[in-house]
Amino acid sequence: MTKVCPACSAELPDTAAVCEYCGSSITPLALSVQDHKRIREFALELNDRLVHENRLVARITFSLTAVVVLASLLSLIALYHINQLSLLNLILFSLAVIFLVYIISAAIYRRKTNQAFHRSFKEKINPDLNSFVSKERLPHWQFDQIAQQALKPGAPLKRFLLGDEAARERNGGRFI
Ligand SMILES: [Zn+2]
Repeated sequence: MTKVCPACSAELPDTAAVCEYCGSSITPLALSVQDHKRIREFALELNDRLVHENRLVARITFSLTAVVVLASLLSLIALYHINQLSLLNLILFSLAVIFLVYIISAAIYRRKTNQAFHRSFKEKINPDLNSFVSKERLPHWQFDQIAQQALKPGAPLKRFLLGDEAARERNGGRFI
């Protein structure tokens, strides 16, 4: 008989207590209702911290976008006033500027939030998560299962959890 490691999905003999491939404990920690609640709350707190970091990036991107749009529009209006632009051209150019800046800033925003999530997860969230699970003697995969249930779909912490497609990035794909 074999069983599957909940952390790395390796096949293990039925007698194994620890995964020989990733080193994770196979048996879940017995949790009281309060333990469970505390772990859920910790997962939500970590996610809130990730969201907070993201908000800062969103604000910066939005402010920079607004500055670029305003500067472009002011130069267009200046051109209009020195009679190099007709009113129709002014309107068309303005719409084009707004559209272009929107497309570019949306792309930058996606890239920056992704980077911000990864940086803050790596530098701030993951160390706290690691010390939490080791203090609780909780296997990482068990935390991940509880967090997956506690978090709403699309919550940024989810991409760093087991069971999420993007989760491979954590610990270089290893879950301990
Ligand atoms: Zn394993």
